[in-house]
Amino acid sequence: MVDLKSQYEKISNEIDNAVLDVIRSTQYINGPEVKKFQQELEGYLGSKHVIPCANGTDALQVAMMALDLKPGDEVITPSFTFVATVEVIALLGLTPVLVDADPKTFNMDPDAFRRAITPKTKAVVPVHLFGQCCDMEKILEIAKEFNLYVIEDNAQAIGADYRFGDGTIKKAGTMGIIGCTSFFPSKNLGCYGDGGAIFTDNDALAHKMRVIVNHGMEVRYYHDSIGVNSRLDSIQASILRIKLRRLDQYAEARRNAADYYDRAFANHPKLVTPQRSEFSTHVFHQYTLITNNLDRFGLQEFLQSREIPAMVYYPVAMHMQKAYTDTRYKEGDFPVTEAFCKCVISLPMHTELDQEQLEYITASVLEFANRT
Ligand SMILES: *Cc1c(COP(=O)(O)O)cnc(C)c1O
Repeated sequence: MVDLKSQYEKISNEIDNAVLDVIRSTQYINGPEVKKFQQELEGYLGSKHVIPCANGTDALQVAMMALDLKPGDEVITPSFTFVATVEVIALLGLTPVLVDADPKTFNMDPDAFRRAITPKTKAVVPVHLFGQCCDMEKILEIAKEFNLYVIEDNAQAIGADYRFGDGTIKKAGTMGIIGCTSFFPSKNLGCYGDGGAIFTDNDALAHKMRVIVNHGMEVRYYHDSIGVNSRLDSIQASILRIKLRRLDQYAEARRNAADYYDRAFANHPKLVTPQRSEFSTHVFHQYTLITNNLDRFGLQEFLQSREIPAMVYYPVAMHMQKAYTDTRYKEGDFPVTEAFCKCVISLPMHTELDQEQLEYITASVLEFANRT
């Protein structure tokens, strides 16, 4: 689905030198590279504080710990998401309250969010799925009305821009009280291992989260709160610094590939191309088609036989997962999400797709769609 090898080869000199420098420096944990990356990411995002951590799941967990959410508090999040979002809510003893998706953008439906609010609701975690922002203007408005924290799960949309009605533009992940991201290798800003970060403009929360990621320790060996061990390695930070400088250019390459797919599949009766929202740029973490009367797994197999990968994100919604089944939910509760789970398929999407590959992929998809 991604071609990390070709991407690496183009920047290998820079990467190899940076990694070797860290190895020779012996400052593997919390070294100067981590601090530099933190500052550069703060500058890129226009966020006052970036707190690097070990992965995107930890980022979400630390965010919820810092907000002092208590067991029994309800946290609203979409059912159509990667499991991490729901997992950390449940792990902390909070109650995940799931909501349906918007049929056009795959993202959380703001009206469904509003309907799910109860007196126990304390926070909402919108997920900017597949590379484009949720309807944040509405979500922020509703959250304000009910005094809820907004924690953005920005693991899939780093670099996307959101435009508010008054013309203000903000980066994905910097609109809520806290934003979280992942540097998993296949994410838009990926390192060569695990990594993550938390963003906030709030000084007190930033301080608290820096303490939490470091064992709840402010003064060495004095622990004032329960923390975790969640750090970004210096080696990964040195790689991320190099890739951050190319993030916008990488997004452009992804958008060009998406444009090619869009043109190839336009108006096809069996393939619905991903809709682009009017208020967010799309950084195409995934290029996801909605199929119509098409054997999706048959298509996946056919593509596989031609060595073209294709994946289903996500085949099972969170409210239908064994670990998260809850008597409150049953099949049919989230019709949009359930329809997505039955008919979406994602095509290869990365920074290195060339004309020839795009031609081959689209011709293969069309061959299957036209024949069946
Ligand atoms: C990848 C991802 C995460 C988790 O990130 P990790 O670094 O793998 O822990 C969380 N939420 C979403 C939406 C993701 O895509």
